Amino acid sequence: MHSSVTISQPSTAMNVVILPHYQAISAYAADLVCAALVDEVHPVLGCATGSTPIGLYRELVARDVMQELAGRLVTFNLDEYIGLDASHPQSYYAFMHEHLFQPLQLRNRLTHVPNGMTTDAALTSAEYEELIRKFGGIDLQILGIGRNGHLGFNEPGGSLGSRTRAQRLSRQTIEDNRRFFDRAEDVPTSAITMGLGTISEARKLLLLASGKSKANAVARALEGPVSSLCPASIIQMHPDVTLVLDEEAASELRFYHFEGMAEPLDFSTN
Ligand code: PGA
Repeated sequence: MHSSVTISQPSTAMNVVILPHYQAISAYAADLVCAALVDEVHPVLGCATGSTPIGLYRELVARDVMQELAGRLVTFNLDEYIGLDASHPQSYYAFMHEHLFQPLQLRNRLTHVPNGMTTDAALTSAEYEELIRKFGGIDLQILGIGRNGHLGFNEPGGSLGSRTRAQRLSRQTIEDNRRFFDRAEDVPTSAITMGLGTISEARKLLLLASGKSKANAVARALEGPVSSLCPASIIQMHPDVTLVLDEEAASELRFYHFEGMAEPLDFSTN
């Protein structure tokens, strides 16, 4: 007597997919985004900026599914620098315009990035939360991770239940961002960011990480204690999260191994 059960996804709420390189994680993540949105009448995508999701956006723009969804796709970005106008080349609005909004010709009124030029950050933040609610919440939130474990601009030491608000950036984040600006004094030191509580309410989380410099943060987020010292560790509390990592970003994980993690699990009995 032979019976065999094969399931195509790990059965836990935390799926970890480890692939050889950046191109592979970008393509895999694009498949997940398309699958999460394709059947939604009003798809709502949470977007992240930074170098990590660029390959994902390139993939999404090339997908027929996304072209078909584009007319009704609603987006909410995680964050924006305070003091940078949308037209500033380093604003997160400009980044999104270049990599997703313009190539997919998304509707202006359906794409949302916090207003970094606001004179009332508390009001802008409250209105952002209200808009997310109005559109029915976020179906899938794309996330990167900072070297210090930040999510969006939720830096270590903040509240795990925080909502959208103005945040001061950590010294490490300011240093990491220095490469994008001509002069050190031009690097913004604060931002409006969705809070960890806001992020946690997205129905699915998709965290991408690539490269050795992220390995320690990934290990702390996935295998360390849930703690404000590593804001990304809140993903451990979420019911539907997928991490898509390249081998370098996964290299400090102790409990997940490269071999077979992206393969279907096969529980065969002979
Ligand atoms: P990166 O940034 O994708 O540019 O590495 C991610 C982050 O800091 O959240």
